[in-house]
Amino acid sequence: AGSAVSRRSQQIQAAAPFRMLFGFLRRRAAEESGRPGDDALEVLDFTFGDPHELAMPAYVEAIRDAAVPRDDQWFAYKQSEETAQDAAAASLERVVPLGWTGDNLRMTTGGFGAITVAMKAVADPGDEVVYTLPPWFLYEILAIEAGLVPVKVPALQPAFDLDLDAIAAAITPRTRIVVVNTPNNPSGRIYPPAQLSALAAILEEASARHGHRIWIVSDEPYNRIVFDGKPFHSPSQFYRHTLLCYSYGKTLLAPGQRVGYLAVPPGLPEAPELMDAIDSLQIAGGWLFPNAVMQYAVPDLERLSIDIGGLEAKRDRLVGALREMGYEVASPEGTFYLWPRSPVPDDEAFVAALERRGVLVMPGTLFETPGWFRICLTATAETIEAAIPHFRAAIDEARR
Ligand code: PLP
Repeated sequence: AGSAVSRRSQQIQAAAPFRMLFGFLRRRAAEESGRPGDDALEVLDFTFGDPHELAMPAYVEAIRDAAVPRDDQWFAYKQSEETAQDAAAASLERVVPLGWTGDNLRMTTGGFGAITVAMKAVADPGDEVVYTLPPWFLYEILAIEAGLVPVKVPALQPAFDLDLDAIAAAITPRTRIVVVNTPNNPSGRIYPPAQLSALAAILEEASARHGHRIWIVSDEPYNRIVFDGKPFHSPSQFYRHTLLCYSYGKTLLAPGQRVGYLAVPPGLPEAPELMDAIDSLQIAGGWLFPNAVMQYAVPDLERLSIDIGGLEAKRDRLVGALREMGYEVASPEGTFYLWPRSPVPDDEAFVAALERRGVLVMPGTLFETPGWFRICLTATAETIEAAIPHFRAAIDEARR
């Protein structure tokens, strides 16, 4: 007898990022339940971009207020709400000045929803989607679910820039999408204008050569989490055929409250057709619109942000301490991650050694980039202080 479940669901579960991510979570859960009552070992969690403190009061107030019905249609079926779109567009304009209006975007269930709709809007099953390693680990899953074929191009180490020659070489007649994630999770790199304009030139040329448009899906949920006053540049400023994906989950550090958007640059000739496709795919994908309450809250939420200065201070503290211990680590230009080189080539062994000390980080292998590991800076300053002696002991031990 065959399997009860579809081939596609089996294919999704078998994909490397899923196996590795859920294997990692299972091992961690087993380990935690395996030491009942062992409160001598404090768990210092640097894995996911989750909050470690209560949400900002203004955030809670915005949602509480949005939940109070103003009319009898308050909780009716809602597609993408115009008031949310208008507020989101005005705010995006301050980050990426291209003349955005509410009509240029649609509210989605976070970045996940935006990316999956973007992929399906411009690519058909069997088409290829190119992205850079280390990636956000769910691109592969979203691509497979859309029937697309992932094509992976390693970034240029140690700065983790786009490998433009390798991207150009990876383009085939089936290529429809190149995903760009800046500021980058996990490397913290903000791609400079020269790289984005060179990528645009490559894609213009390849689109002309193959007789169809190759799109950029620009995944930029961290475009407001930038440090040292460094300017952010969106691929959409260099290449008009860009689908811009945003999530409020990072700037507000509330990823469980699903809201984001998919934006199509102003003046794009294909825009009317594309917006219709997006509207249809959001319904067909299983009603991928954010809950009504989250959409009503967007104008207020757009005025809020986590404390970027506080994040920068945590970055500086931990980068400084790690370097002083002998770790090789770049200071991230944005996002809330550090991406140090593992002191031993086997990043999983090193991560396991940290785990025995109660410090949880993610191995580079999870990002298909062995030899590195990721530390998430959403942990509190106290957690960082508590972990510093363990990071020191682990590298000292690795060197013995
Ligand atoms: N893209 C990147 C690079 C991310 O890091 C994440 C979340 O970790 C997402 C997309 C998805 O964001 P959300 O869960 O807010 O939809």
